[in-house]
Amino acid sequence: MNKELTLDEIQNFEGKYPKQLWMLFLTEMWERFCFYGMRGVLTIFMADKILGLSYSDKEANLKYGAIQAFVYAFTFIGGICADKILGFKKSLFFGGIIMIVGNLIIAASPKEFFYIGITLSIIGTGFFKPNISSMVGDLYKEGDPRRDAGFGLFYSGINIGALLGGALCVYLGKYHSWSYAFLAAAIVMIIGVVTFTITKKYLGPIGNSPLLHIEDSKRKMREIFVYIGALVCIPLILIMIQNTSYTDYFMYTVGPLALIYFLYEVVKTKNINAQKKLIAALVFILFSIIFWAFFEQSGGSLSLFAEKNLRFNLAGLQIDPNVINNTSNSFFVIIFSPLIGLLWLWLAKKKLEPNTVIKFGIAFLFLAASFYVFYYNKFFVDADGKASLNVFTFAYLVITIAELCLSPIGLSIMTKLSPKHLSGMMMGMWFLASAYGQYAAGLLGAGMSTPDKDASLMTKLTSYTDGYLQLAEYALIAGVVLIVLSVGIKKLMQEVK
Ligand code: GLN
Repeated sequence: MNKELTLDEIQNFEGKYPKQLWMLFLTEMWERFCFYGMRGVLTIFMADKILGLSYSDKEANLKYGAIQAFVYAFTFIGGICADKILGFKKSLFFGGIIMIVGNLIIAASPKEFFYIGITLSIIGTGFFKPNISSMVGDLYKEGDPRRDAGFGLFYSGINIGALLGGALCVYLGKYHSWSYAFLAAAIVMIIGVVTFTITKKYLGPIGNSPLLHIEDSKRKMREIFVYIGALVCIPLILIMIQNTSYTDYFMYTVGPLALIYFLYEVVKTKNINAQKKLIAALVFILFSIIFWAFFEQSGGSLSLFAEKNLRFNLAGLQIDPNVINNTSNSFFVIIFSPLIGLLWLWLAKKKLEPNTVIKFGIAFLFLAASFYVFYYNKFFVDADGKASLNVFTFAYLVITIAELCLSPIGLSIMTKLSPKHLSGMMMGMWFLASAYGQYAAGLLGAGMSTPDKDASLMTKLTSYTDGYLQLAEYALIAGVVLIVLSVGIKKLMQEVK
């Protein structure tokens, strides 16, 4: 057997990307395939009157929001468990298996076992999602300028999976059976877990348990404790996702509790420089909540806008606007993510690469521009209240550039600013912000929609586009505030770029 690689050997790689990145890329690609496959069918399955749960649109949307919020909220717990006990590798394996079981259970009888299966998917994703991103960070030495480009590439993997999973599972679910859709999600997750199991030996010490120094039996006991704890969460989550009003209580409490725990860890860290970096990380996390609240209109108000207010015409081709709404973001990420990654590398060589705070600021400016384009579409409306799919698609291109200046960069900066023993937790906090973003997105979308169900298409269009103009203004303000605050935040970040 080959000798295990050391951390130095891994981190002193030549070229643009470490070879282990490709393995993590593939594993995450399959995981996102499973996740977005499941996510893509959720609302349609819940609203299906014959073979699904036969919920009203409103109920399906609320449940969808609750499930999404729980998925991302659980990453905080998954991150802490990995930091303190399991290590990233075991966490990933455990999370992957739970996701497989969850999808298999739903596939066995979607109507009957939907909630229990989704509960397992929530827990599994919590153990999987933050920890694979943390491992990507561990492939790089502190200060390595290639890190952001690495996360850019990793982000392409996420979106290849998202695109394929969203397309395949929705196709199987709508045209064959819901069981096949969930079965497909389980099968691709099996491929992901197998890929990881075969390739994890190349990760050397990265992702090992933080408790390797203590006795084997004691370590095992703590691991078993985590596994049992995860199982104990099943009935609790099950109850909460079945009653959406509990989601509100959950969201009101989990954030403050996470913040208190974060502050406890900051105080415990003692080293003032590390503390400043953690506070800087918190600022990025807080701004990302605003970003996701706007961005995630894509799953809510923008998909309803696409359904009602757009012509089936993209550059002369007859295309369903909802297909564009569901796929164009991933498509543009796949194309632009490596390009923007290379742009950062090129700028770094010339010593012109913007600092992360500025990249976040730029992200908000692009976000503002994209919502301005979504708004501006109202001037392309015809007498039937239908606007242009071309303009809408262009807005998706702009919002994707915004995403690429924030989302992969955010993953990267979490790994730069976190001390090693807290990196899982911080990655979990990053995704917890997404949970709040998803939650707020639903509220914003509901606020923008017309209360009158039978309103004319023109009224609906005006109501949504006026809302998008407001989002554009707020995004602009957030971007300017970030850029103004950048001097102070850079001080907190010290040598980190
Ligand atoms: N689309 C990205 C992913 O699935 C980011 C999601 C998020 O942080 N909200 O990883």
